[in-house]
Amino acid sequence: MNYDIIIVGAGPGGIFAAYELTKENTDLKIAVFEAGNPLDKRKCPIDGDKVKSCIHCNPCSIMSGFGGAGAFSDGKYNITNDFGGTLYEYIGKEKAIELMKYVDDINMKFGGEGTKLYSTANTELKKVCMQNKLKLLDASVRHLGTDINYVVLENIYEVLKDKVEFKFRTPVTMIEAIEGGYNIITAVGAYTCKKCVVSVGRSGSKWIEGICSDLGIETQSNRVDIGVRVELPAVLFSHLTDELYESKIVYKTEKFEDKVRTFCMNPKGSVVTENTNGIVTVNGHSYEDPAKQTDMTNFALLVSKHFSVPFKDSNGYGESIARLSNMLGGGVIVQRFGDLIRGRRTNKKRMADSFAKPTLNAEPGDLSLVLPKRILDGIIEMIYALDKIAPGTANDDTLLYGVEVKFYNMDVKLNENLETSYKGLYMIGDGSGVTHSLSHASASGVFVARDILKS
Ligand SMILES: Cc1cc2nc3c(=O)[nH]c(=O)nc-3n(C[C@H](O)[C@H](O)[C@H](O)COP(=O)(O)OP(=O)(O)OC[C@H]3O[C@@H](n4cnc5c(N)ncnc54)[C@H](O)[C@@H]3O)c2cc1C
Repeated sequence: MNYDIIIVGAGPGGIFAAYELTKENTDLKIAVFEAGNPLDKRKCPIDGDKVKSCIHCNPCSIMSGFGGAGAFSDGKYNITNDFGGTLYEYIGKEKAIELMKYVDDINMKFGGEGTKLYSTANTELKKVCMQNKLKLLDASVRHLGTDINYVVLENIYEVLKDKVEFKFRTPVTMIEAIEGGYNIITAVGAYTCKKCVVSVGRSGSKWIEGICSDLGIETQSNRVDIGVRVELPAVLFSHLTDELYESKIVYKTEKFEDKVRTFCMNPKGSVVTENTNGIVTVNGHSYEDPAKQTDMTNFALLVSKHFSVPFKDSNGYGESIARLSNMLGGGVIVQRFGDLIRGRRTNKKRMADSFAKPTLNAEPGDLSLVLPKRILDGIIEMIYALDKIAPGTANDDTLLYGVEVKFYNMDVKLNENLETSYKGLYMIGDGSGVTHSLSHASASGVFVARDILKS
């Protein structure tokens, strides 16, 4: 065998698996195959000047490379079983929290020290939400910020690079089961290993689907979350963000009893574009460094959809909606809430007259031509509900960017060790469908590393 262990994907799942496997300086021979670039070579060409919107690089520097999709993220590590994945269903709630705390300790050791840990425990805001038909979910949130998150990754790489062989710009094309292990096939050659940890995240969703189908590993379709990113003056949400930083709030609509939830809140942050397999959607982040902060706060409002029979391609549904917005707006569309309610397009003039200044240069347009009525109605209802706990949310100048789509990988059938039906072939992180967040993905990496070390 060329290696004892090959890890596919250098996102948080892969990185933390590699860290834990090498922590005690074992003699294991480990390689990490990553489709993207090393951290210092990851650069999105959008500069708002010469390159204004996504030019579909391959690999996409936002989603791929050392650090994975999380490298330029806001670095919010949510320590909770309430959202961010279903790791606890495999390993138990206590273990899942213990591992997320362990990941937090490592992040502190590698440069995160001094960053703030927020908590919903004992907050009065829970009651205020309840009084207004909203539910605040429980969590502790470590906010590293985009800048510190990058430093932590740099420091972890410095330690790992001498213990693990990194092969960047080397996408794995196929995995074959062979006697005593696996044959990992790439464009530049095939490598054998005894055990393989697959952690390819959301950008590897199509690929992992193919691998599971080739190997006969059972999968189940997952949900897709569709909605918009809301941006408003930071001061309107400051009573929530100062205390909790990120509040995960759920609302049940009166019209359809659908659940709409807030997601990825970025106080004083910026709205950004995201490219998943060529489809441009919207996201957001914020910096810990006050010098890089803005006057605006952004967060997503999402509605989950899960299809089963006869159509079960939930991600395909989300993709079609995102493609529609890409077709009409050339990428991301932005609309003032007041224009949406009045049934008219936001144009350049209305945008220029707006009190709220957008942090992303998106095309002014009409989101009602893109989002299905049921989803849009839910979002509008929730904006009015949020207006009761944060007056001003439903102002005419509140900006809505669309579309935001959270693609979820299908669920791979795994045992309680996150191992597939093939002994020694593990699937972890967002790629497995088990996790949807930095903390859960990282914890899943630590968990399988310990399982491998045990054996
Ligand atoms: C802009 C943005 C902001 C975010 N903010 C937050 C946040 O604040 N908090 C939070 O909890 N989550 C956030 N997320 C989500 C978070 O980044 C992911 O949940 C997390 O990165 C998942 O980790 P992972 O290791 O499973 O996969 P990923 O981070 O997606 O890493 C997978 C890696 O595998 C590589 N890969 C894919 N296919 C192959 C292949 N065939 N061969 C080799 N390599 C391959 C990819 O290039 C990628 O580098 C954000 C995501 C984005 C895009």
